[in-house]
Amino acid sequence: MANPITTTLSARLSGLLGFSPAVPLVRWAPGRPLVDGKVLVLGTGADADALAALLSGDPATPDAAGDEVLDGWGLDVYRHATPDEQYAAVVVVLTDLDHPDELHEPMLATASTLKRLTRGGRVVTVSRAATADDAPAVAAARQGVDAVVRTIAKESRGGSTANGVVLTGTLPVTAPSVVGGLRFLLSTRAAFVHGQLLAVDTEAGALPADWDRPLEGRVAVVTGAARGIGAAIARTLARDGATVVAVDVPAAGEQLSTVANEVRGTALQLDITADDAGARILAHALARHGRLDVVVHNAGITRDKLFANMSEAQWDAVIAVNLAAQLRINEALLVSGDFTDAPRIVSISSTTGFAGNRGQANYAATKGGVIGMVRATAPLLEPFGGTANAVAPGFIETEMTAKMPAVTRQVARQLNSLQQGGLPVDVAEAVSFLASPQAGGIVGRTLRVCGQNVVGA
Ligand code: NAD
Repeated sequence: MANPITTTLSARLSGLLGFSPAVPLVRWAPGRPLVDGKVLVLGTGADADALAALLSGDPATPDAAGDEVLDGWGLDVYRHATPDEQYAAVVVVLTDLDHPDELHEPMLATASTLKRLTRGGRVVTVSRAATADDAPAVAAARQGVDAVVRTIAKESRGGSTANGVVLTGTLPVTAPSVVGGLRFLLSTRAAFVHGQLLAVDTEAGALPADWDRPLEGRVAVVTGAARGIGAAIARTLARDGATVVAVDVPAAGEQLSTVANEVRGTALQLDITADDAGARILAHALARHGRLDVVVHNAGITRDKLFANMSEAQWDAVIAVNLAAQLRINEALLVSGDFTDAPRIVSISSTTGFAGNRGQANYAATKGGVIGMVRATAPLLEPFGGTANAVAPGFIETEMTAKMPAVTRQVARQLNSLQQGGLPVDVAEAVSFLASPQAGGIVGRTLRVCGQNVVGA
């Protein structure tokens, strides 16, 4: 919840620094519509037809196997742009592209709708990844799409976002994670995801029985859950149906109990750097809830110092909490034999993990480390239908960032295309999506939740 005093102060500071006021973003809540307005589906061919049918709720939509039907979403879908019509979302299906000349029609049609997007509107492309095995013209067309998406995001206004779903190889457009990814990016759950290309790797995963409760029956551990982003993750996973084990250090015990009680989960006071942290997490989850399905590695610390002045203690503390503990816990879970029912690991990285940051060499090593860790951990979970992925937040309004000097903080807020800081819930929504059955085909990836931060873009 935004504090009215700090909101007013930051608006004043923003004005003094010459920044334009940010457009408030709409966040998701149960009962809110998936898309509030008309949806335009651009593109020709079977894939565009299949997605238009799915979005509009036509019951004749075949699933990835081609022999069943997918439940449609009942949206108000149009296949051709009408002058003067306003759209809440534009989905551009580009999976058939094999030459840059074919970009002309769908891209110019997309451009013609941008001024008519409603506030908080969505542009989502669905395309295929360019690879070295493609014919040069095919790769050129496909790679070009990614940069157009990023450009639309940079030019967007009114709190609108632009993102893409990128299919690997010949994946069908109705694969669970293509459909799930598209739905996530269209929704207000992805309010602070902007300028991103969400890669889908495999046909694994499953569509949930209830889109509002995709984690029903799952048990999830969240580290660093006493406050900030971790507390928001605990709340969001519980809202989406999971039973949550909230983990934090004993010193945060009181706040931790409050969060655990609020989400009707259990609290586990634990320093995750303990050698037996993995065993204790598993023992708690099995004893109290009978299973463990999802682990969210959120706990993290900073010990900032210019690298030339950094002490051994500052380096070691950050590595121990932000990376070594995660590796040790993952290893304990993997060898246990009790983390095998479509398990999910979701780690919190940072835009610093891509770009580095002045004064944060230790933190950068760990947040870049997380990106590498999930990429290499995902194949170990694949035999069990599991995945490991990461979320890389940009500037998020928490106690961690509240410690920054006011001017630095205000500048940091402006360093993204939405010109504001994200909220903990924005990170939590992405974590919940990656923990869900519909994200089972997203493997070893890092999704940025940063409003298209210029840092490491
Ligand atoms: P925060 O400092 O508000 O909360 C971190 C929590 O982790 C605290 O409750 C703390 O007690 C707990 N924790 C620390 N060490 C622990 C340990 N050894 N064992 C168990 N729990 C421990 O931080 P936040 O802003 O909510 O950040 C959460 C995560 O998101 C971190 O990994 C952080 O690096 C990452 N992140 C934050 C931002 C941001 O803008 N806030 C941006 C990028 C990434």
